[in-house]
Amino acid sequence: MRLQSYLAGRWQDGSGPGSALVDPVTGATVAVASGDGLDLAEALAYARDTGGPALRAMSFAERAKLLADIAAVLVENRDRYAEIALQNSGNTAGDAAFDIDGGIGTLKYYAGLGRKLGDARTLVEASSDQLTKDEAFRAIHLWTPVQGVAVHINAFNFPSWGLWEKAAVSLLAGVPFLAKPATATAWLSYEMVKDVVAKAGAPAGAISLLCGGGRDLMDRLRPGDVVAFTGSADTALLLRSNPNVLAANIRFNVEADSLNLCCLGPDVALDSALFGLFLREVGRELTVKAGQKCTAIRRVLVPRERLAAVAEALSAELAKIRVGDPRDPEVRMGPLVSKSQQAAAWEGLDKLAAEGRIIVGGNRDYAPPGVTADQACFFPPTLLVCEAPGQARAVHEVEVFGPVATLIPYASAAEAAALGLKGGGSLVASVFSGDAGFAAGFAAAIGPAHGRVLIVNEAVGKSQSGHGVVMPQCVHGGPGRAGGGEELGGLRGLRLYSQRTAVQGDQAILAALIEGSATVAL
Ligand code: NAP
Repeated sequence: MRLQSYLAGRWQDGSGPGSALVDPVTGATVAVASGDGLDLAEALAYARDTGGPALRAMSFAERAKLLADIAAVLVENRDRYAEIALQNSGNTAGDAAFDIDGGIGTLKYYAGLGRKLGDARTLVEASSDQLTKDEAFRAIHLWTPVQGVAVHINAFNFPSWGLWEKAAVSLLAGVPFLAKPATATAWLSYEMVKDVVAKAGAPAGAISLLCGGGRDLMDRLRPGDVVAFTGSADTALLLRSNPNVLAANIRFNVEADSLNLCCLGPDVALDSALFGLFLREVGRELTVKAGQKCTAIRRVLVPRERLAAVAEALSAELAKIRVGDPRDPEVRMGPLVSKSQQAAAWEGLDKLAAEGRIIVGGNRDYAPPGVTADQACFFPPTLLVCEAPGQARAVHEVEVFGPVATLIPYASAAEAAALGLKGGGSLVASVFSGDAGFAAGFAAAIGPAHGRVLIVNEAVGKSQSGHGVVMPQCVHGGPGRAGGGEELGGLRGLRLYSQRTAVQGDQAILAALIEGSATVAL
């Protein structure tokens, strides 16, 4: 099957042989995609000129209904999508649900948010400021949808969630999108968009999809367009430094590499329920989607005197995880997505191993039971210990995009915070501690280097949403190495797709603008 692209309101095929999408268990080709030779200038112009005005004419409530209708179409076809995720991404049922339901859940959340904004088409910030001695002369801050296209470039690991978490926000903001999924796993994105285009009733030009290609996409952007990129730091740098992007001052949001950490507090006893929760969380983060998650825990900070005991307990936790062909319902961890990702993970592990000691996994001849294909892309759950993290570099800088984490000892709260900051900017950190002083101090100290911090004590141990789960209510993104971007976070996410304008004038006139807008309380 050749995947098509949906551009300028019609399904189109690129030229040439295209790239093969493979099953990472068997190596079989499951689809082919080519975006070569497609007219992206035409596609972007159609979205800008046809999709933009149509979406801007709709109220927030009408855009919310569109999101709800998209979610309903996806729910209808959920089982088919899970089968594609298995074949093209090597997802277990749990991995597929994480991606597919994550996308549907985010659409539904934004649909709910949009419904509450009612008939308005613009947003206004809650505060209004008096600017001179005249009480009537005031300023408000108005958010209106940008007039261009939201170009969404996505990573291979979330062909559903990555697509819809961005689409939900830009559509609600009133901005058409053109999504470019990573080619290796674009099949799922393609099937979803095909269903949505056929059944969800989106206005013409609101939704575009590019499967494969896109190497000239940055050259075709115009002022008013916005890019939301998720992927590696290297690609982000290449695209955001494109001369046209720089010259046109294209707003460019980046979600990139991340050395997320989980810290075990010094107060947590090894026989406590909280320690059990910590072990489960680290084990889950290491193995869900075979560790190919931007939020996965890469660095595990533990009190130095507990290092040996934690290493032993985590090794036992990982030994329980059955790895193999995800067609077997007993399997809890599948393969990496491709041979090139597998090679990159081995290369990264070599760098970590040069500064640490492998205590679980890490064997290159690894093959899970029952899997014989040379083309299979498996990688063993792997745990390292880095005894001298203060001097080490790779453990704080190299993101191995697979089931790999490193145990890092710390001797004091100050050292734990300093090690946390050495990650150079990450998406998320979690701390397992019942000591409010330690947990709050740690969160504040590492805050400047993190987009999100999860604090788990026994009180919220069962109800907490999880280290790696991106909740649409909270901002997602991180500084520095993580790209410096920010997505989601409820209405905060609409800011990327809105122009914020300070409007100054007589409060009687400003009142009319406020009246026609929904209020955003920041
Ligand atoms: P990647 O190789 O950088 O690719 C990301 C996207 O960029 C793909 O859609 C790719 O398309 C596209 N691309 C590459 N070169 C391009 C070019 N010259 N012009 C236009 N588009 C281009 O990253 P990946 O391997 O898919 O994803 C893994 C990385 O993503 C990891 O480092 C991970 O940390 C990061 N990630 C971050 C988050 C987050 O939320 N922060 C989430 C998931 C993943 P092709 O596939 O066609 O090359």
